[in-house]
Amino acid sequence: MGAMEGTLPQSVRDDGLIDDEELRRLAAAGLRTWDDSAAHAAAARMDAYLAITKPSEKLYLSYCGAEEASPSPLIDRVLTLFPSLSVQTSLRQSDPTDAAGGFLRLAASLRAFADEGVLPDASLYAYFARDPRYAARLSALEEALYYENGQACVSRALAQKIYGFTGSASRLETFNACPFKHFARFGLRAEARREYGEHPVDEGAFCHAALAGFINALLQGGGDIKTMTRDNVDALLDGVLPAIMEEHNGGALTENARARAQARRLVQRIRMTAWALTRQLAAGTFHITGTEVSFGRGGTLPAITLSLPEGDYALSGRIDRLDCFADEDARYYRVIDYKTGVSDFDFADVYYGLKLQLPLYIAAAVAVDRAVAAGMYYMPVQDVVADEGETLEEALMKALRLRGITLSEPSVEEATDAEGLGILPPRSGRVDGDVMRRVLAHADAVSRTAAQRMLEGDAQALPARRRSGGRTACRYCDYASVCGFDPKLPNSRCKNIESMNETDFMEKTNA
Ligand code: SF4
Repeated sequence: MGAMEGTLPQSVRDDGLIDDEELRRLAAAGLRTWDDSAAHAAAARMDAYLAITKPSEKLYLSYCGAEEASPSPLIDRVLTLFPSLSVQTSLRQSDPTDAAGGFLRLAASLRAFADEGVLPDASLYAYFARDPRYAARLSALEEALYYENGQACVSRALAQKIYGFTGSASRLETFNACPFKHFARFGLRAEARREYGEHPVDEGAFCHAALAGFINALLQGGGDIKTMTRDNVDALLDGVLPAIMEEHNGGALTENARARAQARRLVQRIRMTAWALTRQLAAGTFHITGTEVSFGRGGTLPAITLSLPEGDYALSGRIDRLDCFADEDARYYRVIDYKTGVSDFDFADVYYGLKLQLPLYIAAAVAVDRAVAAGMYYMPVQDVVADEGETLEEALMKALRLRGITLSEPSVEEATDAEGLGILPPRSGRVDGDVMRRVLAHADAVSRTAAQRMLEGDAQALPARRRSGGRTACRYCDYASVCGFDPKLPNSRCKNIESMNETDFMEKTNA
């Protein structure tokens, strides 16, 4: 059973850590290597041939008839070797002269009418319209012909029941990216089945746990950050990483040689990031207040409360890192979010509610003791290689620079980078108090709107699409096969995301 292409024989992919070309070069250099993918493919073919020559009486080869799958190439070879054989199928071929075949012709003719204005076959339509056995199918056909991304929704009462009045920033971001995606993930709780192994999302969790472990060790007397060397950083990490790796994802990172190689690369990224963050902290007077600081739902900080007509909606979350400094006038906080991928602060993301974590997190932090929001940043977790002519430390400070916005007050800039190491974001990322307050206020307003629409039951498939580049929220979406959104349909609607800089943001939020 299942004699499909890719299964019989088993397909072999050249996706090892060392690819075929590299293997050939290693072998040419005189090193002992292992089989390349061509040799694996030959072995898989041999296994398949051995399997089908084993039966002593009968051999059945079966495959599925789905259009998107192809039968195994062995089927053709067997048919060539034994010309008297034929493929038996229980699938009924459509006959254009019977009713089923006629209905298919009518469907194609109506599609051509809807798409290109070609006049449909009126007599065929009249024939089926008269037959009550086809009434339901005909009306389904007509409905499908002019299908639009519907205004899908659930009732307000049901929405309030399934979502409740608590949530998180990432949930609101998902809603703003596409209400149906939010409904599927948080309402239906539909999740792709996970396979055992280390996936990109797990890498993020590992990096967060490792950096939190490092900072906790640092805070518990791991040494003076100002004088910390790279060796001190590595020694602290060596103390915390083995336990984290053992616990992480059921031990997937220690499972086999490939996983261990992946773990080594991740650890290298963490070492670089940990070193960079100590250098960043040593360059100013900000100090770490806490790591993995929770607000709302049992956290150390109170929830953010969004006032909605139906009642208060409580937002909770966890701040990767919260830093603070104080002068005679005020206390200043900044939040830092670690990112294993590329991430930068973008005013459009805040305006459209696609990235709300940083502004909401800093709002949660400063609300407590009326402190001032001094900055919100993403910090990349990555390995660094120095270019020719630069030291590794210079490359590190450049590559792992904080990405976000800083309050452009002399005391804050001094507290961030007194040594002028290039930690501050570029000019475009230094904003005055008005802009900082507006970012926080708008994040609150756009969160309230999203929470309100969510609780009203909005569940339409309306993906956000960036005008520049045309990328939509559908990319990598797990729900593409069930949401009914089809960009090929003429009326498919997206929520367009316009690019914007600080000036555009201030103008648009001034209304
Ligand atoms: S595929 Fe696109 S439209 Fe469908 S749920 Fe995902 S984001 Fe929404």
